Amino acid sequence: MSKAQQNKANPGAHEFDVVVVGAGFAGLYLIHSLRQKGLSVRAFEAGAEVGGTWFWNRYPGARCDIESVIYSYSFSKELQDEWRWSERYATQAEILAYIQHVADRFELRQDIQFNTRVSATTFDEKSERWTVETEQGQHVKARFVIMATGSLTVPKPIDIPGLEDFKGAWYHSTNWPAEGVDFTGKRVGLVGTASTGVQMAPLIAQQAEHLTVFQRTANFVLPAGNRPLSEDEQRHYREIYPQIREKTRYSNGGSHYQVNDKSAIAATPQEREARYEENYRINGLAYLGSFNDLLTNEASNTTAAEFIRGKIRSIVKDPAVAEDLCPNDHPLGSKRLCIGSNYLETFNRSNVSLVNLKRTPLERITAEGMRTSEQELPFDVLVFATGFDAITGALSRIQVTGRDGLKLKDKWKDGPRCYLGLATAGFPNLFITTGPQSPGALANVVVGIEQHTDWIMDCIGYLQQQNKSLIEATPDAENAWVEKVAALAQLTLHRKGASWYSGANVPGKPRVFMPFVGGFGNYRRLCDAVAANGYEGFVLSGCTAGAAVEQEALA
Ligand code: NAP
Repeated sequence: MSKAQQNKANPGAHEFDVVVVGAGFAGLYLIHSLRQKGLSVRAFEAGAEVGGTWFWNRYPGARCDIESVIYSYSFSKELQDEWRWSERYATQAEILAYIQHVADRFELRQDIQFNTRVSATTFDEKSERWTVETEQGQHVKARFVIMATGSLTVPKPIDIPGLEDFKGAWYHSTNWPAEGVDFTGKRVGLVGTASTGVQMAPLIAQQAEHLTVFQRTANFVLPAGNRPLSEDEQRHYREIYPQIREKTRYSNGGSHYQVNDKSAIAATPQEREARYEENYRINGLAYLGSFNDLLTNEASNTTAAEFIRGKIRSIVKDPAVAEDLCPNDHPLGSKRLCIGSNYLETFNRSNVSLVNLKRTPLERITAEGMRTSEQELPFDVLVFATGFDAITGALSRIQVTGRDGLKLKDKWKDGPRCYLGLATAGFPNLFITTGPQSPGALANVVVGIEQHTDWIMDCIGYLQQQNKSLIEATPDAENAWVEKVAALAQLTLHRKGASWYSGANVPGKPRVFMPFVGGFGNYRRLCDAVAANGYEGFVLSGCTAGAAVEQEALA
């Protein structure tokens, strides 16, 4: 009997080959893959269900801004063929149903302990094992720990003074009541006008007596072009899935769109207009691929930004409101583009108003509502779509202690440092999925999760073949990778956008541009080359009989 089978038969086990932290898209595929390798696994999940960010973010209008057919697993043809996406961009409910289906179909739940938050994990050099501790005081041991904690899971603390004084109800997008919120007849104040706020505002406006949107930074908002997927389209996608998936694996952003290999400023104004118009209408995030230099050439970027500002002015009827909605303090794409449905049109409603916080800053929340430098506005309900302590937030909330008592939070006090975004020196046998210095959320994260998981599985297999038990990134390889990631970011206009990509949204967080911007396909090739060269940049060591991964299980 393999270890995986033994552990299913023994839910009280406290020693595993691998502990996985999190049971969202990454955690589930990890559990499945580890089991396929015959390894025993225990996943700890803070939520009451699978789904990760798609479990918690159930605010009105929540849906993915990447097309459903590619924002889905590719590892199982049967799964791919049997699942039907009803719309081009799936709602949160549909994505959650899909993730639940995956958990049931591959019988993954039996290896997941729900309602359990991991509080600490500590490496013991003698036994070559990690001890993983939960908030409930449980301790388990594992040879490997894999962080599947997600990039967008920990809310940024609400940093507006006075929330404790507010007498009405308030909600944060990342922890929405499962039963929903009825805004009928309510005066609602919404803070935050990025991806989340843009999705929420139109739906709240349909119910509320009045919606006031507090905007600090105006964002580039494009229409999703969402629509139902017909049976014919679904059939067509199933036929061309192999080609689509292959494209996503080697594309820049993990998508199947063709990037135009031409510079925007080299194109004629007519060409630019036609290309922008087409991508604006139907391709959402792929607008950034309209030309090949939108993120590297400021003049090119301005042409794309000006096109969007023109759209805003043509949609929003009140010219003063339209001007306030026009982004003008960062290059297009240096903060994530926002994809919405009827967001701009919402400002044409008589029950919606916009407060420009750049002109009249928010001073505080009061007992009755919100006070800006100019006025005090009364509200029944406040809604915060103020974002996340992204990329490192979940990791920094776990006390991770590696070799020689090194604490991850001390090592990362000036910003995260990872080799390939997968491992960090001083922390043997600890892997991170979609972490800092990987493409992370800059690419389709499901494609990234599959690539990371497959790479980690191969790596564990290689260790076994080499009769080694430990793998650890070298400081030199890590330093070189971190420098490369930073240098690449400097070549792009990302350097000009204060976003969660660089921790700029959280006061006091070190400013380090975290994602690898060199393109997902290139990143995959670099990871593959590291593996092909015997895990270059890593030290492989150890081979104690007790610690070696069970030969028979991996065979
Ligand atoms: P976000 O991009 O960090 O935006 C937070 C918003 O809140 C910004 O408008 C920000 O203004 C504002 N804000 C924060 N603190 C504030 C304060 N103290 N006073 C006034 N305004 C404040 O967060 P998000 O919208 O939740 O999106 C985060 C990421 O999640 C997205 O970039 C995307 O990757 C992902 N996401 C995806 C989808 C989708 O698939 N459709 C949906 C939602 C989220 P400033 O910009 O001025 O800081």
